[in-house]
Amino acid sequence: MKWEQVFASRASRMKASEIRELLKLLDQPDILSFAGGIPDPALFPTAAFQSAIADILSGPRAEAALQYSVSEGYKPLRDWIAGQMARIGVPCDADNILITSGSQQALDYLGKLFLSPRDTALVGWPTYLGALGAFNAYEPEYDRLDPHTNRTAADYADTAAAKGGRVKFAYMSVDFANPTGETLDAATRHGMLQLAQDLDIAIIEDAAYQSLRFDGDAVPPILALEIAQKGSIEAARTLYCGSFSKSLAPGLRVGWICGAREVIGKLVLMKQAADLHTSTLNQMAIADVAVLMFEGHVAKIRAAYRARRDAMLAALTTHMPAGITWTRPEGGMFIWITLPVGMDGADLLARSLQSQKVAFVPGSAFFADGSGRNTIRLSFSRADEATIGEGIKRLGILLRS
Ligand code: PMP
Repeated sequence: MKWEQVFASRASRMKASEIRELLKLLDQPDILSFAGGIPDPALFPTAAFQSAIADILSGPRAEAALQYSVSEGYKPLRDWIAGQMARIGVPCDADNILITSGSQQALDYLGKLFLSPRDTALVGWPTYLGALGAFNAYEPEYDRLDPHTNRTAADYADTAAAKGGRVKFAYMSVDFANPTGETLDAATRHGMLQLAQDLDIAIIEDAAYQSLRFDGDAVPPILALEIAQKGSIEAARTLYCGSFSKSLAPGLRVGWICGAREVIGKLVLMKQAADLHTSTLNQMAIADVAVLMFEGHVAKIRAAYRARRDAMLAALTTHMPAGITWTRPEGGMFIWITLPVGMDGADLLARSLQSQKVAFVPGSAFFADGSGRNTIRLSFSRADEATIGEGIKRLGILLRS
């Protein structure tokens, strides 16, 4: 069967990148890996989930946990999330929240809702690789969202029109971004909001790492800034995507979208058609564990990741040769390294695996146009401090050579 001739045009945009293929090789035991940006499983609240799930399945909620359920999501969980959103400046109620199967599903749904082929999505250069993967299925064009550019709204609109569509949204990873570790300050968030207003487009605010702040003051979400301006979430163009993956456990696949009811209502219909609802047992377990210990648990993982970030920053200062710069994240899981122009991150990875057994992700994977070859992403979330020190030392040896 010649499958290519029956695949839809969108399938041609679904390709494993060379880098993804390379990363599959990194799971060998003798490799010191700073590649995967995933939580440390030793920090999962496993015992709390064990007793929550046992309790749900042995009590009056057992039938509801195993039966079909509503597409909006488990109401006590939506209520708990609404309470959390209010605490970060987003007054809303359960009807402003749709539970999704991880925030990855939120990105897929928002791509599906907004993008017709040839429409333009504004994304960071670099941006979250999984967002590009989610949006690609809807055959968009990308344009570079750069808070420090002096490009005007008219310029963005003209560029999109020349490509045969219009700008539909701006996507941003706002706190301790994947991949750069950087946080947008309040002035930049206001600037992004103004640009979106001038273009009359939506904002997709990806807050997957929001709860992982180690130090510095929290910056209000763009959605909070917008509600402060307009008085109500119902007038907001920002759609906030949250996740329990970094705070509690990614394997349960529970995230959410928070925004105006008009958009949430449309997304509920989309979810009904796509997968009916997110696993009810998982939503119940997340709700129970969140009520029981969310704040205490995130304080514990913040302390663990803070120590690892500090170890990585200290090791970089000690071991990196001149000409190499890096970000200093206030939270999250990532540090972004800029190598001298002309040096290639993918090339460096190949050499590093061979001679130093240290892994990381070449930065060009995170650029919609494949640029950024002289960058790499390091993750400090899964290695202990001693391993971080040793790995960065080896990377320093390689870079000096
Ligand atoms: N957004 C960002 C910026 C991420 O880094 C990730 C996970 N790597 C996600 C969204 C998706 O996470 P999840 O689907 O587990 O919520």
